[in-house]
Amino acid sequence: MAIDPIQRLIGEFARLPGIGERTALRLALYLLEQKKDRALSLAQSLVDMADNVVECEICCNLTAYSKRCSICQKPGRDRSVLCVVSCIQDLMAIEASNSFSGLYHVLHGVLAPLNGVGPDQLRMRRLQKRLLEEKLVQELILATPASVEGEATALYISQEFGANISIISRIASGVPVGGDLQFADRLSLARALMQRRPI
Ligand SMILES: [Zn+2]
Repeated sequence: MAIDPIQRLIGEFARLPGIGERTALRLALYLLEQKKDRALSLAQSLVDMADNVVECEICCNLTAYSKRCSICQKPGRDRSVLCVVSCIQDLMAIEASNSFSGLYHVLHGVLAPLNGVGPDQLRMRRLQKRLLEEKLVQELILATPASVEGEATALYISQEFGANISIISRIASGVPVGGDLQFADRLSLARALMQRRPI
C-alpha cells in the first residue's frame, strides 16, 4: 500500500535539523494550502540542487553546473594564500566581510576522535594533495573555530603540513571563544584575519 503523501512529507521535514514533528506538520499543511505551483517549485529546486550541486574539485566549496567554484575560477584572487575553514558557512562569512582575497579550503568538519571524526572523514587528504601540487601556496591561514576541536584541527594541520609552507597562521580570537565564525560580525572577522598570528 502506498504511503500517505502527507505523512511522508511530514516525515521528510522532521528529519531536517532543527525541525520537530510539530513544525514538520505546520510546514506540510502550509504547503498544502498554497497554490500547487508553490509545492512543485519547491520540489524542483530540491531536484536541481541534488542533480547539479557538487563540491569544487579544488577547494571543496559548493559549486553548481561547474567542477570549480566561482572563487577558484576568479582571476584576481591571490593564489599564494589559502584560508582553511571548517564549513561552507564560515567561508561565506569571510567572503561577506570583504577582508580576504586569497583562496579557501573547506574541511567539512573538525577533528572529533570521540565522535569518530578523524582526518579521513574530513577533506584533509585533498588539502595535502593540493599543497603538494600547487607550488604557489606561501601561507596557510587556519580559520577553524576557537573550540577545543577547532584548535586540535588547526594544530593537526600545522604539524602535518607545516614543513612545506612558509607561513602558517592562526586567525586571531576576535571571534568569541567557542563561537563559530559565521556568527561573528564582519568587522570582528576582518580584524581577526588581519591580526592573525604565525604558529
Ligand atoms: Zn573552489
